[in-house]
Amino acid sequence: MFKINPICEDGNPLPLTTDGNLRVVFIGVGSAFCKRKRQSNILIIQGDHHVLVDCGTQGPLALNDIGLSVLDVRCYLPTHSHADHVGGFEEVMLMNRYTPDPETRGQPQLIILRDYQDILWSKSLSGGAEFCEANQGRTLQITDFFDILRPKTQQIHGRKVWVYQHGPMEIMIMRTRHFPDTAVSVDESQWCSGVFINRRVWISGDTMFDPEYPQRFAEDAEVMFHDCQLFQGGVHASYQELMTLPTDIREKIFLYHFGDNWDQIHTWVREGDKFSGDPAKDGFLGWAQQQVAYDFL
Ligand SMILES: [Zn+2]
Repeated sequence: MFKINPICEDGNPLPLTTDGNLRVVFIGVGSAFCKRKRQSNILIIQGDHHVLVDCGTQGPLALNDIGLSVLDVRCYLPTHSHADHVGGFEEVMLMNRYTPDPETRGQPQLIILRDYQDILWSKSLSGGAEFCEANQGRTLQITDFFDILRPKTQQIHGRKVWVYQHGPMEIMIMRTRHFPDTAVSVDESQWCSGVFINRRVWISGDTMFDPEYPQRFAEDAEVMFHDCQLFQGGVHASYQELMTLPTDIREKIFLYHFGDNWDQIHTWVREGDKFSGDPAKDGFLGWAQQQVAYDFL
């Protein structure tokens, strides 16, 4: 059972603790280039543990919207290397290392697989960070900015996944088929992942339409958040494709990662489409909302 609650109504920063319940806050629900919403980065909080899944170019700004900064968030989980998911990490690294009292603060934590750690550092993050200083004559490494937390391999429904137990939260990471759009399997795709929290809340991550995933995870998930784009083709699941999921699965799904024209239905719903463009009317739970708490009781 879950409830949608308002946050920061009193003007205070969002607390990064809960009484023990699982809380999911989308600090943004928009697509990569959205301007009306923030990018799809997600805070997950339970007890005295939290993790920010992705910190894109607008991530620090989206944290600021709810009274937080990259110094408050102590644990991060990057799903893949597109800038709307990792573009804010330079701020995370430099603020944490070079603003006053880094010793007292300690390094933030990073939940990441070994292989992806190397790719993220060498292809994306090292450019702005490795030469900030020479540490005993060598360039800095990702471990000079983050304490690494390493998920362990497991199998679920016959697919390989990775699991990290973060305090009371079980964070399951599964690979998704996101890009290039020609990839027919996850093995042919660049690293990209979704997460499944406490085997209750499934978040697809960026992904092309891969119906087997929502169908399998729906067996366990209470609520699912699925990436959604408002046109066909490209590297995300389209609304049209998601409409082909069975009713009992759609009724568990909130849609997120949508473009700025989500509410201008005439711009993306065509004559002859067998849906209204309002996800609540089309059998989904609705559009995911940013800056509210999804509280799981
Ligand atoms: Zn992406």
